[in-house]
Amino acid sequence: MRFEFAPGTVVLVGGGPGDPGLMTVAGLSAIQQADVIVHDRLGPLELLDEAADGAEVINVGKIPRGAYTPQEEINRLLVDRAQQGLRVVRLKGGDNYVFGRGGEEWLACAEAGVPVRVIPGVTSAVSVPAMAGIPVTHRSLSQGFCVVSGHVAPDDERSAVDWGALARCGLTIVILMGVHNLNHIADALIAGGMEPGTAAAVVADGTTPGQRTIRSRLDRVSNEAAGADVRPPAIVVVGAVAGLTLNAREPD
Ligand code: SAH
Repeated sequence: MRFEFAPGTVVLVGGGPGDPGLMTVAGLSAIQQADVIVHDRLGPLELLDEAADGAEVINVGKIPRGAYTPQEEINRLLVDRAQQGLRVVRLKGGDNYVFGRGGEEWLACAEAGVPVRVIPGVTSAVSVPAMAGIPVTHRSLSQGFCVVSGHVAPDDERSAVDWGALARCGLTIVILMGVHNLNHIADALIAGGMEPGTAAAVVADGTTPGQRTIRSRLDRVSNEAAGADVRPPAIVVVGAVAGLTLNAREPD
């Protein structure tokens, strides 16, 4: 359905994992109507070509561990443009509320009295494994999945994740932002009681022409991913489903 976009509104748009075909119809409609689009480096950037002539397109993209626009500045930008009476799209990769700081942006707009809406997106946590042939649940193999951020190592004081509990939960574990700390994460899961031979896969640049999958096991996945020079964005899947291959989209 075409999205009804009132002037002076901010819309948080989930762009999906990268393939432009995986953005929602409502999200595309919002992009086509926007006066301002604030985006970062992930998501369906080809669809920025769909923006109206004269639309302002602002890249606030964060490179992992590199230069970035502070969140407060992004919040100010959204509020400022909306208060000028413009229609503002905040485009994120995947879904804005899955490690996308969408909640903070929603609150910043609401506190400033700016109308804000959300168009959910297809999260990479589910779609990237799917495109690599890995279902996050599968009858007889997994009765659920946990999506967790690996951006801080398990022994880092900022980590609030109980990796020992995850090791014993019996569910598929989907780790976002986990490539850098993968060796520590795998060690923590094994220390928590997970079998070292548990299937584990890493999918990089999922849903894009550069998609690559490394299939391995928990005790080797970090070395094999490093050996294959896997870089973000990548998703790690740990659990029996990571041993399945349900399609052959990739040449490997
Ligand atoms: N809001 C996003 C996640 C943002 S966090 C979502 O719902 O998908 C960024 C992390 O998402 C990356 O470090 C990576 O772990 C994962 N990611 C996003 N897009 C990806 C892609 N196309 N391929 C592999 N991983 C991806």
